[in-house]
Amino acid sequence: MNVPVIKQIRAYTVRGGGADYHDQGGGHWIDDHIATPMSKYEQYRQSRQSFGINVLGTLVVEIEASDGTVGFAVTTAGEIGAYIVEKHLARFIEGQKVTDIEKMWDQMFNATLYYGRKGVVINTISGVDLALWDLLAKVRGEPVHQLLGGPVRDQLQFYATGARPDLAKEMGFIGGKMPLHHGPAEGEEGLKKNLAMIEDMRHRVGDDFWLMLDCWMSLDTNYATRLATKAHQYGLKWIEEALPPDDYWGYAELRRNVPKGMLVTTGEHEATRWGFRLLMEMGCCDIIQPDVGWCGGVTELIKISALADAHNVLVVPHGSSVYSYHFVITRHNSPFAEFLMMAPKADQVVPMFNPLLLDEPVPVNGRIAASALDKPGFGVRLNPECKLVRPYEH
Ligand SMILES: [Mg+2]
Repeated sequence: MNVPVIKQIRAYTVRGGGADYHDQGGGHWIDDHIATPMSKYEQYRQSRQSFGINVLGTLVVEIEASDGTVGFAVTTAGEIGAYIVEKHLARFIEGQKVTDIEKMWDQMFNATLYYGRKGVVINTISGVDLALWDLLAKVRGEPVHQLLGGPVRDQLQFYATGARPDLAKEMGFIGGKMPLHHGPAEGEEGLKKNLAMIEDMRHRVGDDFWLMLDCWMSLDTNYATRLATKAHQYGLKWIEEALPPDDYWGYAELRRNVPKGMLVTTGEHEATRWGFRLLMEMGCCDIIQPDVGWCGGVTELIKISALADAHNVLVVPHGSSVYSYHFVITRHNSPFAEFLMMAPKADQVVPMFNPLLLDEPVPVNGRIAASALDKPGFGVRLNPECKLVRPYEH
């Protein structure tokens, strides 16, 4: 078989939404006094942008093959990621066959081990990996999900993440996940406000709608246990990312502590098979939530998901739009998916990576048909109106 080789890899940055969904304008629910690990400092409590959640911006990776086919992907690694791609990773990509993704991943990961392993380096490798899958699928004229074994169901069903689960219910989603607003530093009064929000939302959505709480690493084990115990009466389905990602011991304890039936979920800031192995072997959670743009890409998510399957742990990826959808539709242990409500008031469905991607499918009545993913690659295009900057070249 005549397999094209990779001619060039290029890295760009772009600001204002896209993969960096925290890079939004003022008045957005996603930056409205959300509890974080920085909430113990009063000056950083009101806004996550105040402590720099949007400093990275979006990284766009483009990979061009010898037959002229171009694959691309987006993630959050910004200018640092662009530097790593151009100055370091490019040597492992250019000149390789478009099919040799496993080898390219292994070389990128091992060559960066001495300064990488997690965080922005793995975000960057994830971006390159996703662009490689997009490229290979386009060369073959197939959607990525077909390369991953094909759909195991005919549609994706979604829960919505945002400030308005009550509106999400009207829009046909199967559940709603709210951000927590008050951390332990706000004491008993903050805890009461957190519980009042859950109680109020339970009354609005009725008994049967899934309600979940995203704590974005903001709590400690004791506070999370108290919150989960008190929120049980409101039928909270799961408590997400309650603790800092490195506190595997705290997660294991929290999972033992929560009321029977309540799920503990985490993993959006975890990376690679080794990080998730720790979460699973230590019994930290019932659902893992890898972000395919941060955990190592599709190549690594395949391994993480197989490990989870053997541990009876569900894989419900964090956000990531089409990059998640093409994976989720192929896995038995990913029965539903997350949709981030990116409208400032969470009152309408808009594309998750708006405005960067064109043709990005969005849920209708809380669902996306598998057939909506039947375009080559990940099935999206870059919006030519977004200003891409290439800060480094090689
Ligand atoms: Mg989360």
